[in-house]
Amino acid sequence: MSSQNLSPQQSSITALDNVRIVLVNTSHPGNIGAVARAMKNMCLSQLYLVEPQKYPHDEATWRAASAGDLLDSAVVCDSLADAISGCQLVIGTSARERTVPWPLLDPRHCMERAYKEAEASHKVAVVFGREDRGLTNEELQRCNLHVHIPANPDYSSLNIAMAVQVLSYELRMAQLSGELTSNEMAEWDVPVAGADDLERYLVHLEETLRDINFLRPEAPKKLMTRLRRLYQRTRLDEMEVNILRGILTSTQYWVRKAKLKDGDSGGDSL
Ligand code: SAH
Repeated sequence: MSSQNLSPQQSSITALDNVRIVLVNTSHPGNIGAVARAMKNMCLSQLYLVEPQKYPHDEATWRAASAGDLLDSAVVCDSLADAISGCQLVIGTSARERTVPWPLLDPRHCMERAYKEAEASHKVAVVFGREDRGLTNEELQRCNLHVHIPANPDYSSLNIAMAVQVLSYELRMAQLSGELTSNEMAEWDVPVAGADDLERYLVHLEETLRDINFLRPEAPKKLMTRLRRLYQRTRLDEMEVNILRGILTSTQYWVRKAKLKDGDSGGDSL
């Protein structure tokens, strides 16, 4: 692998820096420049070029506009294998259906998945093909997943830089939706409950559900799994956990009282 700069310097490293855009055997240098611009607009920085036909080239620099820094730090490789080396998730893009069925996702779901992995420090590659022939079947079979932009079925092939723009935008949206979620809780008036608080609550909930015979020992365990999933989704704060635990304590108090009363009068428990 030959490169102009193997480790581009970043002012601040984000999950998007774990995502590389790989262009295979691009013929028009203008497209490479347009890709760099599309990427920088969406906060992506890692550009890998596999055997570009004309590169470096003035037209690439011209079309990149103010994204020339991405061209300067682009990594030029001799093979796709070099470009995806060290990547834990490799996504192949395709303008049309292929003969070999492969896990195929739409851009939104695929880029959400890619972003999550990048956030977990996995290296992710999104691979784009030649302007005239796309990626070969062999190249596509080096990918874990395929993504297809659901364009007009009668005219589904986008210009490569436009295809990079669509997928980079979805990555950017995945990043922003994560930030919005955490910002919502950052503005919260009470601290978000920790995993231990939630665990104690769920143990208490299970105990109470047994006390009121809602959870029967012989019943399938799925109930607690579903309730766990529900509470894990909601991101309770500490006060909400306290309120919910208060309700459980009170429920247990009254159940115990009712049971004692039933015992006194010889009746069945609840
Ligand atoms: N004639 C080629 C099209 C290549 S377009 C073919 O039939 O495969 C150049 C590249 O842009 C493709 O290899 C792919 O990386 C990307 N691309 C274009 N349209 C796309 C689409 N609808 N979905 C996903 N990627 C697309």
